[in-house]
Amino acid sequence: MPFKNLGIIDPILKALANEGYTTPTPIQQQAIPLVLGGRDLLGCAQTGTGKTAAFAIPIIQLLSLQKQKRPGIKSLILTPTRELAIQIDESFAAYGKFAGIRHTVIFGGVSQLHQTNALKKGVDILVATPGRLLDLINQRFVDLRNLEIFVLDEADRMLDMGFIHDVKKIIALLPQKRQTLFFSATMPPEIQKLADTLLTKPAFVEV
Ligand code: AMP
Repeated sequence: MPFKNLGIIDPILKALANEGYTTPTPIQQQAIPLVLGGRDLLGCAQTGTGKTAAFAIPIIQLLSLQKQKRPGIKSLILTPTRELAIQIDESFAAYGKFAGIRHTVIFGGVSQLHQTNALKKGVDILVATPGRLLDLINQRFVDLRNLEIFVLDEADRMLDMGFIHDVKKIIALLPQKRQTLFFSATMPPEIQKLADTLLTKPAFVEV
């Protein structure tokens, strides 16, 4: 089944063709229509399954189809490592090339100047690791009041790496009314509990 059958708009189809993607992966087939339909999602998936595109494609589409664009960050993707953050941001660049969405990435271990300059220009989508995000929220460089779609990526690794406390602090700052997509390769009890508190009537996808 081609991407077109999932209801994806032309500017994104063109970008996917440029990337050489012909067919959606199983998680993309399941997740894309659900996310486009506004559902919360609980995804049990490893890296390598195409899960980044499974959330990035519908987020780009939902935001680019909005007629009245509210100012500020409309989607936040929280991920545990700098490498993953950079990869996810590159995915938004690739799939969103013709869709007119603005995105940037922030992570720790480097000077914040380049990151705060990018934020000042205004972004629709922010990809972040938890520590640097909290830091920049506290310095008022990031405002999440207009957030609409929140993605928690690799939730189990957030727990393993000791980031879960920071993650909970960030979640407490998000608007209650939002769409939430939650991805984890495994579902230990603490992660299942977090998913239960974050998600409203989620669809479940597993690959
Ligand atoms: P991920 O699981 O998101 O880390 O993706 C794994 C790899 O698969 C990445 O290198 C993607 O560029 C690639 N990929 C994702 N979706 C597709 C697709 N539908 N067709 C071909 N390659 C894909």
